[in-house]
Amino acid sequence: MNPRAAPSANADWLARSLAAVWHPCTQMRHHAQAGEPSHLPLIPIARGSGAWLYDFDGRRYLDGVSSWWTNLFGHAHPRLNRALRDQIETLEHVMLAGFTHQPVIELSERLAALTGGVLGHAFYASDGASAVEIALKMSFHTWRNRGRPEKREFLCLAGSYHGETVGALAVTDVALFKDAYAPLIGNPARVLPTPDARLAGPNETPADVARRAAAALEDHLREHGGRTAALIIEPLVQGAAGMVMYDPEYLRLARALCDQYEIHLICDEIAVGYGRTGTFFAHEQAGIRPDLLCLSKGISSGYLPLSVVLCRDAIYDTFLDDATARAFLHSHSYTGNPLACRAALATLDIFTEDDVLTANQRRAEQLAAALEPLAARPEVRHPRQRGMIVAFDVMTDDPHFSRRFYRAALDNAALIRPIGNMIYWMPPYIVDAADIAHLGAATERALESALR
Ligand SMILES: *Cc1c(COP(=O)(O)O)cnc(C)c1O
Repeated sequence: MNPRAAPSANADWLARSLAAVWHPCTQMRHHAQAGEPSHLPLIPIARGSGAWLYDFDGRRYLDGVSSWWTNLFGHAHPRLNRALRDQIETLEHVMLAGFTHQPVIELSERLAALTGGVLGHAFYASDGASAVEIALKMSFHTWRNRGRPEKREFLCLAGSYHGETVGALAVTDVALFKDAYAPLIGNPARVLPTPDARLAGPNETPADVARRAAAALEDHLREHGGRTAALIIEPLVQGAAGMVMYDPEYLRLARALCDQYEIHLICDEIAVGYGRTGTFFAHEQAGIRPDLLCLSKGISSGYLPLSVVLCRDAIYDTFLDDATARAFLHSHSYTGNPLACRAALATLDIFTEDDVLTANQRRAEQLAAALEPLAARPEVRHPRQRGMIVAFDVMTDDPHFSRRFYRAALDNAALIRPIGNMIYWMPPYIVDAADIAHLGAATERALESALR
């Protein structure tokens, strides 16, 4: 650190960042307007350790959202660091067309094994949106290779989020991200009703809502199944929609309808995979397998950009031919990067060495206990949890509530970034009882201060 800048190093970095960096998903003016209700703080981070982030002025923040859902085992993890140091001394990168290497082979084998061998081939990219693009192109191209090019329509659920490149926006239903670019979207997906458990009537269960949403899917497929390529869904939890949770019954029924009407089921587990919902993959809770599975975010424990699409061999086989044009001619420069694959292998090692899924059951119970006092508050609606995701909605008319809460949480040493009036915890899988108590107390204090 620069000792001369020590008294207000944060302010120094903040000014330089605002002058040179265009931050994602941000109205940059909100960073500049300190003191306004819409003010969004920008915090220069000096280092991370475990579940905590430290700024340049020595303040610390518990990473309650796993740095946008990517970080599974905390910051600067010794075993991940060691694996990457080894890899960087061996092979940092080689193109994956015409070449292959140990990390990408081992990772592909292990991911296929985690699907019980059902999804036998792995195709790589560097971010979630690209994985979604790949899955959509693969689905359409599979039908084309099978002589059915009319199957070109995609289905998604209300509130779905699958990324922000133009193709991924076509299957995304979040107006704030989509509307400005609607004229650019060539083949917008059909949006179908969500099985959101909050829609349950007084005498209904979440499974009833799931059956209703599945009936709407069937109504659509009965008429349009012949020109539909795939249904893309976020299994069990629609993250960006506001941690919308639903019953696994929907996955079971959707799987059966996809089989019946011959359309692909694409599971986007970019946010919910890797133990987040309690099982390694969320779709396991319905006892089903998708045709295409998109993974990213936690796949490398938040270390390096990596995404993968796993597909069934029946899909892979339709691309095998003497004609080059029948091949999947898609690539990214960093496809299958060895460092990113090594981080992903080290991530899988931690899952087995530390028996993470079992340890998370206790953490999930502690999170449930921390949610209880908040759930009892009069302004809190729909407290909900699925494994290591805890969420609730807040009743308020204040248009600046989410900013007020976010700032107040930071003042209470916690990074908890609401989506609208929905507050959630999605912490790394290393939080201990004290961290969880801190998360609960910081949320309670921030809520009181934001609602005042
Ligand atoms: C984050 C996310 C994406 C997009 O991933 P990026 O790496 O941000 O492009 C896609 N789908 C879901 C469900 C996500 O949560």
